[in-house]
Amino acid sequence: MTALKEFRPGLWLTQAHLEDFDVRGAVIAGEKYAVVWDSLSHPRDMPPLLPLLSQKDWLLVYTHADWDHIWGTAGLPYHDKMIIGHAHCSARFRQEAPAELREKQHTQPGVWDEVRLVPPTKTFQNTLDLELGGLTLQLQHLPGHTLDCIVGFIPEWGILLAGDTVETPLPVINAESPIDRWIAALQRWENDTRVQHVIPAHGAIGGRELLRQNIVYLQNLRAGLPPAVPDDLDGFYRKTHAENLRYRLK
Ligand SMILES: [Zn+2]
Repeated sequence: MTALKEFRPGLWLTQAHLEDFDVRGAVIAGEKYAVVWDSLSHPRDMPPLLPLLSQKDWLLVYTHADWDHIWGTAGLPYHDKMIIGHAHCSARFRQEAPAELREKQHTQPGVWDEVRLVPPTKTFQNTLDLELGGLTLQLQHLPGHTLDCIVGFIPEWGILLAGDTVETPLPVINAESPIDRWIAALQRWENDTRVQHVIPAHGAIGGRELLRQNIVYLQNLRAGLPPAVPDDLDGFYRKTHAENLRYRLK
């Protein structure tokens, strides 16, 4: 069941508890339109959001095509709605997402039967501004964790929705992660004094210090130095950290 928390007027954070970690999305409500920021991991994660969407037209944005962010869409009345993602996110729906779903359905029979893969209906390459009425959600491509990752900045509120481009206790690196581009993009946001709050999909919410922590971690890896990590990492992040170390010379 998704927990809903009002972060500020017009912004609710959605949080679902998964086996290895929690995942966070959001509902952003302007005067005219609302945005569902990720559909989380299972259709049952979405019905708690419906009361927030009943008054307005709304659209759905995917931060990237990893399963924990996109598998809940069938729990929304999505059929006539615009669904936005990066162009590469759309491409991942063709092969990678179906393969991931087949594998999960095979290893956990019955658990994921309700999941439907619903690809973006509108894609973009670099940036896309959504005028929601009294506030703007500026979508920006930020390849790093995966090549299709995006972030959403709301200048009126100083809020950066970071998806999986920022994570606590540490970022999750993949084989194809463009680490130098990732660092450079995080540095640009770190230097942007408009950013007051950084809200990632996994881990702590904070300010720009979260960007710094991820930059330092990635820079250390890039320099061939094992990044310092907390002693009390849980099993998921201990394993992720060990895998990240394998990519240090990439
Ligand atoms: Zn994720």
